[in-house]
Amino acid sequence: MDRQQVVLHMNPGMGDNSYAHNSIIQNKVMRETKAIVEESIMRLYTIVPIHCFKVADLGCSSGPNALQLVSNVIDIVDTTTSNLNLEPPVFQFLLNDLFGNDFNSIFKSLPQFLESLEEKKGHKLGPCFINATPGTFYKRLFPNGSLHFVHSSFSLHWLSQAPKDLGNKENIHLTRTSSPAMHKAYGEQFQKDFKLFLKLRSQELVPGGGMVLTLIGRDKTREIRTSWSLLGTTLNDMVSENLIEEIKVESFDLPLYDPTIEEAKEVIEDEGSFTLQRLESVALDWGANINEDVVDNNNKLDLNMKAEAITKFVRAPLEPVLKAQFGEEVMDELFRRYKNKIVQLIMEVDILEFPTLVMSLIKNV
Ligand code: SAH
Repeated sequence: MDRQQVVLHMNPGMGDNSYAHNSIIQNKVMRETKAIVEESIMRLYTIVPIHCFKVADLGCSSGPNALQLVSNVIDIVDTTTSNLNLEPPVFQFLLNDLFGNDFNSIFKSLPQFLESLEEKKGHKLGPCFINATPGTFYKRLFPNGSLHFVHSSFSLHWLSQAPKDLGNKENIHLTRTSSPAMHKAYGEQFQKDFKLFLKLRSQELVPGGGMVLTLIGRDKTREIRTSWSLLGTTLNDMVSENLIEEIKVESFDLPLYDPTIEEAKEVIEDEGSFTLQRLESVALDWGANINEDVVDNNNKLDLNMKAEAITKFVRAPLEPVLKAQFGEEVMDELFRRYKNKIVQLIMEVDILEFPTLVMSLIKNV
């Protein structure tokens, strides 16, 4: 099996560096895109009779976000069925992620989650089955025509693999100085992966089924690549001090890509199974990875806290792949140095934003 399918996962558990504690930005995004999910589900209700509403969340991870979609969908369907005077449906939620994901912590949180749902919704809530489907979303996960709605948030910028034989020795991703051939190789890997993802999901959705996808994107003025290239610079500093072997940096490339709106649109149109209902870009602040109650009285974050929050936002998802390549023993030092670079960056640039692409698609009938 391809190594990435086993190695890639977010930092598990509930510790200081866990994804559960450092995915505040992603949670805000899911709350903000609730209206788009609502629009898609309401449309679905007007075209297909639904007795058992089947929903898949692809790349669900662990921590509070793993069940955020379930809450959102139950709320939306509750309002929709009440408005249309319909019986509430049976729900089946299929939570997907790679094999190394901390599914256990999701399962452990289920009794409390279901109890609070029942308290909130009472008798109005139909039976709700929550299942896990481990595996890569770059392969088939579900039977033909078995899903009504597919959701994926903050996952599709993960490629199935970094492009092969790049010869990208000094860096671990694209940087301002990368050759056009390297940009092309990453762009083509994204096209190939995203096209396959759309084809597979079109086989799994019912005709007219809905899909809402959110992923890190790119535009001319705002970017997240700086954060990845700073990680490359930090690793290289450690190579020059003999803390990390040079060959390990030379042979490593991050399997991530942040497409522009145009690149995403082109793949959707070229693949042809979906009609694009919405495609927009939302600017997010990197420093927002912090609970609002921690922000001080002046409503301003101290430089150090902001750098710490950004470092954790990067560490929680990337540490497992970095650990597998460079060793667990260098992780604390790597991120201590990385944080210093982020402090520097915050002092140099005014705006620390990156764009997120949000799209809503309908499977063609
Ligand atoms: N949806 C959650 C988690 C996003 S983190 C949120 O918005 O907070 C991204 C998740 O995508 C990770 O858990 C990672 O393991 C998963 N992922 C990345 N590539 C994947 C693939 N090919 N198949 C399934 N899951 C994948």
